[in-house]
Amino acid sequence: MSRTLRVRQSQTVVPFGVGAVFDIQGESFVATGIGDWPGRGRQRVDSPRLASRLGVTGFYAAPATANDRFDTPDAPGAPYIRFPSWLFCGSCRRMTRWRIADEKPGHPPRCPSCSPGRALAPMRFVQICQAGHLSDVDWWFWAHSRQDAGERRQCGDRDKLRFLVSERASGLEALSVACTAKGCGAARDLLDILGTHGMHCSGRNPWQRASEAVECEKPVQVVQRTAGNLYYPIVYSALDIPETDAPAVTDEALAARVRGHDLWVSLCRGADSPRAGVFRSMIQEDTGADDQLLDALLAEETGRPVSSATSTGTGTEPPRVGWRLDSM
Ligand SMILES: [Zn+2]
Ligand SMILES: [Zn+2]
Ligand SMILES: [Zn+2]
Repeated sequence: MSRTLRVRQSQTVVPFGVGAVFDIQGESFVATGIGDWPGRGRQRVDSPRLASRLGVTGFYAAPATANDRFDTPDAPGAPYIRFPSWLFCGSCRRMTRWRIADEKPGHPPRCPSCSPGRALAPMRFVQICQAGHLSDVDWWFWAHSRQDAGERRQCGDRDKLRFLVSERASGLEALSVACTAKGCGAARDLLDILGTHGMHCSGRNPWQRASEAVECEKPVQVVQRTAGNLYYPIVYSALDIPETDAPAVTDEALAARVRGHDLWVSLCRGADSPRAGVFRSMIQEDTGADDQLLDALLAEETGRPVSSATSTGTGTEPPRVGWRLDSM
């Protein structure tokens, strides 16, 4: 039976943005870098102030799909890849490293050793480092980590692993990874798996190619895939206020004096209040700003056109064009 996995477009920013691990219907994925987004269907998001703050040229929303075609290779849609790639079979307990080439669109991975093939489950642990790299735990190394380097070299197959459960213990101690390569038999339980173990960082993230890996000396730490401390995105927010028709402010030094005036915030909050006229004249007296400049700065601050004519009370409320300071 074919299955459909969906993420809403807004979820591609939070909570399932780049690098977030995403559990759905017993499978686990990670959102890939935006370099993997298909060119088609991208929507430009205009936010020039945020762009200049972050030093970027612009923004795109994740490419949305109108239908279920996102599971085909050429469709738009934000790409997620399977992570961790180490899966296990709940029946025969064999572990399988599921590669991108093994994916069948619309179908969850199934055990190649059981018949009928049972759905494979993702391993519960992943590894991270302080430089922000995320990768599969090196399960082969873990199974052989009680051996010395000489013994490890005897093992001829890095893919023959089983994820075993013992009935004689409980918790993590009951779980172990064992090597079934011919003549090996190395195994280690998961009692001490959480934490650092001298394993090496791969220097890349799951969606990056081996050629994109960097040299990373940071110690790696094994954590649960679903742990709250796995993913700390850096989020920047911007609120865009629609442009007003007010003339642009030209004298920045004078504008700064107005904005720094003790009564400026009171004027912004109460531009329509009876005391506004008093605030205006005191600010003008102290700074030398004229009516036009004050109106322009007020419009910029409150997001609505202000003119000394309406603020002194002709009775018509100017249309609200957006967010204003006093709504906070
Ligand atoms: Zn199986
Ligand atoms: Zn082995
Ligand atoms: Zn690293």
